[in-house]
Amino acid sequence: MQATIGCSWNHCTYCDMYRDKQYRVRDLDEVLRDVDDAGRAHGPRVDKVFVADGDALGMPMDHWLPLLERVRARLPRVRQVSSYAMARNVGHKSDAELAALADAGLTMLYVGPESGDDVTLRRVAKGDGFAEHVEAAARAHAAGMRLSIIALLGIGGERWREHAEQTARLVTEMDPAYFSALTVTVVPGTPLATLRARGKFEVPPVPDLLRELREMIRLARPTRAVFRTNHASNYLPLAGELPADRDRLVALIDGAIEGRVPLRPEGARGL
Ligand code: SF4
Repeated sequence: MQATIGCSWNHCTYCDMYRDKQYRVRDLDEVLRDVDDAGRAHGPRVDKVFVADGDALGMPMDHWLPLLERVRARLPRVRQVSSYAMARNVGHKSDAELAALADAGLTMLYVGPESGDDVTLRRVAKGDGFAEHVEAAARAHAAGMRLSIIALLGIGGERWREHAEQTARLVTEMDPAYFSALTVTVVPGTPLATLRARGKFEVPPVPDLLRELREMIRLARPTRAVFRTNHASNYLPLAGELPADRDRLVALIDGAIEGRVPLRPEGARGL
């Protein structure tokens, strides 16, 4: 459900998702008409709604609450509404507002800290650091929301070890229900591509990316998180639950590092 256009931050050096879009909140009446249309076309079959775009949680409450109310009215089988969120989007909402959103149905936030390493977070202009992400997670949980968090393999460049260790620590602290890892792709036209052209950034070689992933899984201690690396950008698709499957996942990565477990061919990878 397209409620905002673009990303209100739009500075992350690796991201080209909304680079050519001017951020704006869509007209509420238009969005509500979209919900009505969706209800007529698909009403009884829809059980999940994702509210776009890049950091839709930042939308004001006087848009969020009517939207969630209309979703409940027109899509009665919906059991989860979710959106992307930056840590700062959570920070800009009060505890009462977050609780009101969760009560109205917004029960899952997708947060992409990408790294727990503050040096890396500053380099990629993420806008929020380790502490802000931990606080955002605690407040979202207190409001009754679940979290899906995303890490970006390779984004630490030569700091791969610090990136892995601190990301594992961040996963432990944020304690998400879902944790996934993607692999960084240097997209032409982004600041990251400029840095690479100047010799200031390079994606680590594949064995280091695998070691990075291994360290994240080995060290992270979420209470219970579904873990996935099935995104097309990854060399090694994995699926499991942490901490229950930690040893099995680490053994698979060791197998990949030693050449016993095949990797996704370079040509089969995508953004
Ligand atoms: S917050 Fe997300 S959508 Fe916005 S620039 Fe960063 S990575 Fe892209």
